[in-house]
Amino acid sequence: MKVHTVVIGAGTIGAATAWHLAKKGVKDVVLIERNTIGSGNTSKAASLMTLVRTKEPMIPIIQETYQNIEEIQEFTGDSVEIQKVGTIHIAASEESEKNLENLVAIADKHSIRNREISANEVKEYIPWMDTDKVKKASYMEDDSFLDAYVLAKVFSDAAKKLGVEIMQNTEVMNLLHENNEIIGVRTNKGEIECENVVDAAGAWANQLSMQLNKPIPMAPVRSIYWITKKNENLFQKGQPMLVIPDAMAYTRPESGSLLFGLREEDSPHFHPEDLNKEPNVDFLGNPEDAWNIIINHGKDFASFFPSFEELEIENCITGISTYTPDGYYTFGPFKEVKGFYAAAGCAGAGVAGSGGIGRMVAEMISGEEPFTDPQPFSVDRFGEIDPMSPGWRQRCADSRSKKKDGG
Ligand SMILES: Cc1cc2nc3c(=O)[nH]c(=O)nc-3n(C[C@H](O)[C@H](O)[C@H](O)COP(=O)(O)OP(=O)(O)OC[C@H]3O[C@@H](n4cnc5c(N)ncnc54)[C@H](O)[C@@H]3O)c2cc1C
Repeated sequence: MKVHTVVIGAGTIGAATAWHLAKKGVKDVVLIERNTIGSGNTSKAASLMTLVRTKEPMIPIIQETYQNIEEIQEFTGDSVEIQKVGTIHIAASEESEKNLENLVAIADKHSIRNREISANEVKEYIPWMDTDKVKKASYMEDDSFLDAYVLAKVFSDAAKKLGVEIMQNTEVMNLLHENNEIIGVRTNKGEIECENVVDAAGAWANQLSMQLNKPIPMAPVRSIYWITKKNENLFQKGQPMLVIPDAMAYTRPESGSLLFGLREEDSPHFHPEDLNKEPNVDFLGNPEDAWNIIINHGKDFASFFPSFEELEIENCITGISTYTPDGYYTFGPFKEVKGFYAAAGCAGAGVAGSGGIGRMVAEMISGEEPFTDPQPFSVDRFGEIDPMSPGWRQRCADSRSKKKDGG
């Protein structure tokens, strides 16, 4: 079998890349997935699609995903069931007030709809919240969330409709190359010749890229969130999402429950070879963390949510995001190996960025000018690194621990 491009990994990023390639008229694209579509860390995501970012180059990438969602829904007739509830950003200290002013200025610059709301209005939207400490609040009304598994599925369906071949339950074992040029992949079901490979294998991507001695600058880092028991009086459908940097917390509604994330000081990081190949069902890391983090950090959240301590927790979800030390995505070509591309450093926001990353990589493969500057995301921006070393992984984990903007 000989094709133009093989995309490895059918998470949101790989599926979006395959669709963008097909949309550009690239013939013979194959999307290969070891398990089933969206079964990797995509299936674990909280899937906040926060538009405004202090890392401004990420904004057009995320805006592109929103546009893609409209397009694939229309094209396939399937809904991704996007929930446009908006995000309320809360500032309760002088420092976070300044940061929020900066965020609002960025939103204005990128025409992201936002409006300042009073503490009383916050209370109307979020009745469970104690708003006494609110100094400033801004409502970004177009922010949405969805089920990332569904998004991966609809991107894949749209790709398939345009002629992409999707091979599930097929594992890429080796990348094949000759004279610094990609010539194919070897799977557990045979070889496929190709001119281009996109490594979108998420947390496992470096296992493949390191076969060519090409590190992707990112590392697998645990993400964690909790879901409360249903309480439809407190958590009504359609409530906005919340970002509270002073509590290092974010929330979003989850069918009558509340999904909330609390930042950890030390997010565990993993060697890719230690990760389960199957979709993870187990708790990652020390199971006691599920309670210890709440015990150690929940009190800041509880100061905004007085009945928090009486709430019962239904579930604690862990999964892997692929963090980078600077918090930017990682994608693009490896200059020294013709035809080899990465699309794998999601910075904890790969659902939101999937469409934009997919478009950028497809443009690069097609030899077109990328629609936004790719430099901040380049695979060589950190110089020489060993992506498996504990020191590097710690740098990536630190960037998650410091993240304050939700998702
Ligand atoms: C707990 C949690 C919360 C999150 N919250 C958010 C959020 O609020 N907002 C947001 O935007 N993002 C969030 N994310 C991140 C988000 O899940 C990812 O960025 C996004 O889903 C993109 O993932 P991916 O496609 O890179 O990887 P994955 O979904 O893991 O896909 C990679 C695929 O590659 C396959 N694969 C690996 N090796 C091979 C091989 N050799 N051959 C064939 N296939 C292979 C795997 O089976 C897998 O399906 C969260 C992540 C977690 C874990």
